[in-house]
Order: sequence, then structure tokens, then C-alpha cells
Amino acid sequence: MITLALSKGRIFEETAPLLEAAGITCLENPETSRKLILPTNRENVRIIIVRASDVPTYVQYGAADLGIAGRDVLIEHGGTGLYQMLDLKIAKCRMMVAVPEGFDYENAVRSGARLRIATKYIRTAREHFAAKGVHVDLIKLYGSMELAPLVGLSDAIVDLVSSGNTLKANHLVAVEEIMQISSRLVVNQAALKLKRTLIQPLLDTFAKAVNT
Ligand code: ATP
Ligand code: MG
Repeated sequence: MITLALSKGRIFEETAPLLEAAGITCLENPETSRKLILPTNRENVRIIIVRASDVPTYVQYGAADLGIAGRDVLIEHGGTGLYQMLDLKIAKCRMMVAVPEGFDYENAVRSGARLRIATKYIRTAREHFAAKGVHVDLIKLYGSMELAPLVGLSDAIVDLVSSGNTLKANHLVAVEEIMQISSRLVVNQAALKLKRTLIQPLLDTFAKAVNT
């Protein structure tokens, strides 16, 4: 049996075609099913549905053999116990610094001001500003980062941006790209050795499906 950890929403939706290419069909829709363990058409493959940021944890401890998670999530997790096998090039977006319209970010950085940054991505933000030599106070949030600068919680945010519509709706502007994000296939290190005959063909079909 192999267990694949996925999150609902965009990752599940964008993974489904790759699974189909590998001959795997999920037999229930995670958006409507209340089940957290979903069967597939292959009796030796099952899918578990977990919070996006929990995917690396399930794979790290071997509760799932494989998982699909954003680069953002993998960086925050740290990657212990995981092999990063493949960039699936799905769920693409960018990790950005954003500030309220009218806030002179360049000038604040140049003048050495201490910046308050609200984000879910503490490690990514810390490394980014440390590399720039900018002093920051990081404020950990779990969602709706866009709100923070509007109510004086922070000067800026570090968040994922795709269309930019959420920023625009809240009078924020992206001022710096930290990195490009896409989702990666990760594999438990022990599982790759012990279940190689089951896992390797799946990796090969994923790789082929990504590059077509
Ligand atoms: P939760 O909603 O459970 O707090 P989450 O917001 O991290 O978790 P999703 O919104 O499903 O979960 O995002 C899952 C992954 O998809 C993210 O880790 C990121 O890699 C990617 N992602 C997030 N936002 C976008 C976006 N706007 N466009 C494309 N990909 C995105
Ligand atoms: Mg979300």
C-alpha cells in the first residue's frame, strides 16, 4: 500500500490530472466527501487529505509515503526526512513583500528603518530580510495577512501573490519578489527505499506528465 498526502483545493485539483496520467483515479471528491482517507481505483494506492502545511509532517513521519506541497510550505517545514523529488509546476505563485499604497518601501530600506512584517512565512521572511541586511520584527499570522498593514499591525506583509487582486482590493502593492513558488512531490526517505518498486513507477509517470 502507498499513501499519498494532498490538501484540498488547488493542489488536489491540479494533481488529479497528473494522477490520471499515472492511471490513478480518486474515487471520491474531497470537496464534498467528509472522508479523510480516500480510496483510488488502485487497491494499493490511497489518498489522505490534510491541511496544506501539514503535508510535510505526515510524510516526514512516514504516515504518508508521498505528498504534494508548495515550496512555501516545504521551506517553513525545513524538509527533515523528506526527499524533494519533482517540481510539479502546479499551484504557481510568487512570494512577495507588499506594503500599503503610498508607503515608500525603498526609502525605508535605504534609511535603515526597522520594519514590522506580518506573515505566515516566518522562516522565509527572516532569511530574506537577513540577506538584505534589513532589521525586521516578524509578527506571525495564520491568515488574512493583507489586513495587518491596514489596521496598523505591521508596515508590510510577506505573502503569496498570484493575480494580485487581493492586494489591489486592499490598497496594497507588491514591492519585492522573494521567490517563485510551485508545488513539489516529496517522498519519505525510508519509504523510497522500502517501497521502491511501488513508488518509482509513480515518480516516472509524474515526471513524464509534468514535461508534456
Ligand atoms: P489553509 O487554507 O489550510 O490555511 P493554505 O492557504 O496554505 O492553507 P491553499 O490556499 O490551498 O492552502 O494553498 C496551498 C498551496 O498552494 C500553498 O502552500 C501555495 O504553495 C499554493 N498557493 C497558495 N496561494 C496560491 C495562489 N493564490 N495561487 C497559486 N498557488 C497558491
Ligand atoms: Mg488558503
